Amino acid sequence: MEEIKMVDLKGLMNRIKPEIDEAIDRVLSSERFIGGEEVQEFAKELGGVISEEEVFVIPCANGTDALQIALMAMGIGHGDEVITPNFTFISTVEVVSMLGATPVLVDVYEDTFNIDCEAVENAITENTKAIVPVHLFGQCADMGKLMSISKKHNIPLIEDTAQSLLSVYCNEKGLSGTSGLFGSFGTTSFFPSKNLGCLGDGGAVITLDETLAKKAKQIANHGGLVKYEHDVIGMNSRLDSLQAAILRVKLPHLAGYISKRQEAACRYDELLEDVEGVETPVRSDSSTHVFHQYTLRITNGMRDEVARGLLEFGIPTGVYYPKGIHEHKAFKGLGYKKGDFPISEKLSKNVLSLPMHTELSREQQIYIVESLVKCIS
Ligand SMILES: *Cc1c(COP(=O)(O)O)cnc(C)c1O
Repeated sequence: MEEIKMVDLKGLMNRIKPEIDEAIDRVLSSERFIGGEEVQEFAKELGGVISEEEVFVIPCANGTDALQIALMAMGIGHGDEVITPNFTFISTVEVVSMLGATPVLVDVYEDTFNIDCEAVENAITENTKAIVPVHLFGQCADMGKLMSISKKHNIPLIEDTAQSLLSVYCNEKGLSGTSGLFGSFGTTSFFPSKNLGCLGDGGAVITLDETLAKKAKQIANHGGLVKYEHDVIGMNSRLDSLQAAILRVKLPHLAGYISKRQEAACRYDELLEDVEGVETPVRSDSSTHVFHQYTLRITNGMRDEVARGLLEFGIPTGVYYPKGIHEHKAFKGLGYKKGDFPISEKLSKNVLSLPMHTELSREQQIYIVESLVKCIS
């Protein structure tokens, strides 16, 4: 059996190596390493894959910058409050503080790991200037509720789709669409292990609004759309041409990569069905799941023992995330205390993500689950 990896980038790369080599050669001979055709074409092609509607895609340096660019384009700064989930990657919250605004943290739902919409509504004040839901692990937050909160209070949404590219929300009231297109902006990351990963850092901001797209583009490009004309304070945040060319090779395969992840997730679901002490990922009725992570809840308090045991069987696992945002030293200044977010505190102690990628075989998954059963009993 092949070595089991958390993410198998090499296996995936082996299947597309000739196309990647060709793309790299193309950029080398173009001598265009920043901007140019590769970046423009990638932006167009990604827009086409995300939706049939016209999507404006602004490529940038990484998913953290994408969030910052979106917040800046919405004019967020000193004195403003931005509501974010407490159970997420640090980026989502970090950028709010970087801009001098205040992150207002709210808890998540225990079953879907996504932002608690009642808690969002309770956290709104006259200073709330944005809500940033994260479609965690690849499944959409409750966009139906979030859209109605957004409309009722006239507060824009910025969706962190770093883990959920191409996941689709659709509820019984007929609200439907791809994640990232509900809010004013969606933001995403092409970090190598993401579902659409490049071979370095990369990210993008997406929007259906042409005016907002222009603002974001300007901010990402030193505050100007014309060389040496700087109209606002901006950043230097670019996706380089090599990464764009590499992403253009992977993009047509993205739907296939997602299907492979979904198949692997279904196999895990089946294999784990009767295992005690394990809750498999809960599927929302109103969202597809692109399985950036396959995250269990170990409900008998043995998460760390299970993770250690699996490692002895040669099986890596991940804990996303071992702390709520409020438990990090960096965010002490926000004044939250232990017990303020009971669900995320509980989740940080019992979540365990199993190996999940496009190359996972049934044989490997059977071995993973058999080993897990040995570790938990
Ligand atoms: C990966 C990730 C980011 C940040 O992306 P980078 O490209 O690493 O800056 C932001 N939010 C979430 C939820 C992520 O998973």
